[in-house]
This record gives sequence, C-alpha cells and structure tokens, in this order.
Amino acid sequence: MYLSVANHRIPLHDGNSIPIIGLGTYSEPKLTPKGTCKKSVKAAIDIGYRHIDGAYLYQNEHEVGEAIREKIAEGKLQREDIFYCGKLWATNHDPEMVRPTLERTLKVLQLDYIDLYIIEIPMAFKPGDEPHPKDENGKWIYHKSNLCATWEVECHPYFSQPKLLKFCQQHDIIMIAYSPLGTCRNPVWVNLSSPPLLKDELLNSLGEKYKKTAAQVALRFNIQRGVVVIPKSFNPERIKENFQIFDFFLTEEEMKDIEALNKNVRFVELLMWSDHPEYPFHDEY
Ligand code: NDP
Repeated sequence: MYLSVANHRIPLHDGNSIPIIGLGTYSEPKLTPKGTCKKSVKAAIDIGYRHIDGAYLYQNEHEVGEAIREKIAEGKLQREDIFYCGKLWATNHDPEMVRPTLERTLKVLQLDYIDLYIIEIPMAFKPGDEPHPKDENGKWIYHKSNLCATWEVECHPYFSQPKLLKFCQQHDIIMIAYSPLGTCRNPVWVNLSSPPLLKDELLNSLGEKYKKTAAQVALRFNIQRGVVVIPKSFNPERIKENFQIFDFFLTEEEMKDIEALNKNVRFVELLMWSDHPEYPFHDEY
C-alpha cells in the first residue's frame, strides 16, 4: 500500500480507517510542564499528524482536547480528520462504569466523540478515585472483572511480534504499536534488560544509508508491515522527524534483517503486577 504524508490512513475491517502514525502523549506528569502536551499536539497537527493517542490517566487529556479544538477553530481541519484514541483505566473495568468513564473523557476533551476506546491494561484494580490503589501494607488492591480481552501491543524491532502480527493479518485486525521507539526508559516501569533500541547498530547504519535516523528506520519498519505506530515526543524537532517516514522504502532484505533483531523481550513488562490473576504477559501472544 502506498503511504504518503497526505494519505496515510489504512482501512479497518469495519469500514473505518486509521492514520498509520499517531502522536503518543504519555509523559510523566510530575516532570512535564503544563502546556507542553498542548503545544506538541498543535505542532504535530501542523506537521500533518492526524492521529493522537491519549488517556485520562496521562493527566493531560484536557490539553489534547484544547489543541484539537483550537486547530479546528483555526480552520486547519475538521473533527472527522482527526483520529483520537482514548483509554479505559484499570479501576473502571466494571461494565456499568465504562460509559460514565468514557463520558468523563469526552467532557475533559470537550469533544463529541472519540474514534477508538481501548482497555488500557487487561488487569482490573479496585474501583475508586485512586488510580493505583494499595492497602495499608503497600500491597496492590486488585479487582475481579470479567474481561473480554481488548488489548493493544508493544511492538518495535526488538519485540516485533511476528506470531501475533500474522494472526492479526489473517483475521483482518490492525495492530497498533505502542512504545515503537523503545520507550523513554523510565526504570520505574520499563524493563531495561534490552539495550536502548535507538542505539542499535543496524538501525543506525540503515539510517545512514537513507539519510534518516534510527528512530525513523524503526518507525518505517512497522508502517511498511502495516502496523500503526504512535511514537511519543514533546520535542518539536523530533515530532517532525518521526513523521518524515513516508519518503523512503526499506528493501525486503532490510526488513528481514530488522525482523532478525527481535529479542522477544518487552520493555513494558509491568512486573509489579505480575501476581495479578489476569496478568497478560505470562502467556505467549
Ligand atoms: P516511545 O517508544 O514512543 O518513546 C518515547 C521516548 O522517545 C521519549 O522519551 C521521547 O522523548 C523519545 N523520542 C521520541 N522521538 C525520538 C526520536 N526521533 N529520536 C530520539 N528519541 C525520541 O515510548 P512510549 O512508551 O511513550 O510509547 C508511545 C505512546 O504509546 C505513549 O506515549 C502512549 O500514548 C502509548 N502507550 C500506550 C500504552 C497502553 O495503552 N497500554 C502503554 C505504553 C504506551 P521526547 O519527548 O523528548 O522526544
């Protein structure tokens, strides 16, 4: 499929479509100055991004909404040009809580609808206002829920998910790759046993060949296999860089060489919740 800056939506089974690159918006709230997310989303829209990945939990969803609404007011685009993905957090898994939680997101965004609503993690926590509930001994308080697994998947050259991708392709399911650049490597929640993805020798040497960066090669690898990517950046230069992936092609052999980098190790392993009865990563996908 030919993908370009102006036309990079790919069809979904239900007749809708999704832009193959989106802007990720998770950034540690305590370390991120207010307004950074809004500025970044506006810059991304100016560059040509039409897909934004966010969540109520990220504590900046209101900034995403403001940015989108301001761009619409400027006449830059219409609501239907944007694809927004929001997320249901683990304390809201009970079926009767899904609708009000989605309505809260719409209120925060001040938008009439969102395009995709996913279950952020498939493990439920005790319902309530505390997003990460613990008891008086500091133990996580889990919650039983009847979860029909709706799940998005970490995916990048060190964790390229060949089996899952094949399954999805056979069933006409589009995969969305979170952490497509190998995360921000925050040791609190990232498994650092794999080296930094963007330092990889092959990705860098292919970058040299195409006058691209390792990040652009990593993103191109996924979109060339039909996998949607949602790289996060709040840096204007890197937001731009991550979008400049429609003007080069990796050869079949280079795609195979990148596939061979797969270490089958997740960066986002969430080991602190590995004793949750629904912990998803004990099973192979
Ligand atoms: P990414 O793999 O997108 O990496 C983000 C990190 O890479 C940031 O530190 C960013 O810093 C840096 N970066 C961005 N572009 C470049 C570049 N061109 N060169 C060098 N460094 C770069 O990690 P995330 O884990 O943030 O994943 C992306 C998004 O996926 C999230 O923001 C979130 O929206 C979503 N996500 C969803 C999950 C879920 O629902 N279960 C789980 C994890 C993520 P800087 O900002 O300074 O550029």
